[in-house]
Amino acid sequence: MNRIFFKSAKINEFRLWGLVFTLVGMGIMILGTAGIVLWGQAGKIVAGIFMIFGMISLLISVAVYFWAGMMSTSATMLECPECGRQTKMLGKTDRCMFCRTMLTLDPNQARDAANEVNA
Ligand SMILES: [Zn+2]
Repeated sequence: MNRIFFKSAKINEFRLWGLVFTLVGMGIMILGTAGIVLWGQAGKIVAGIFMIFGMISLLISVAVYFWAGMMSTSATMLECPECGRQTKMLGKTDRCMFCRTMLTLDPNQARDAANEVNA
């Protein structure tokens, strides 16, 4: 599985997306409220639409956080060989939450993972 956007631990990635959706949701709702101030009565319709989108975004963020929580309970706890801290990994390959070293449980993948770090 190639992850193009972030070179970080999967759990941290989920938390990041959760935060993004929370901020986007709040931003949309603030913009919607600003619409009432700017356009008065007509702005209320816009505000209503923005509120709905804001709520959807917040609901997505809650779902993402919930999903991240569910996944972290099934994550493998291990001590990172690189920085010595307790980290969690999802699946067979993941990055350390602290130093972002590639970790793998699959010996066949170990060589590829090491190459990815060096790249
Ligand atoms: Zn580490």
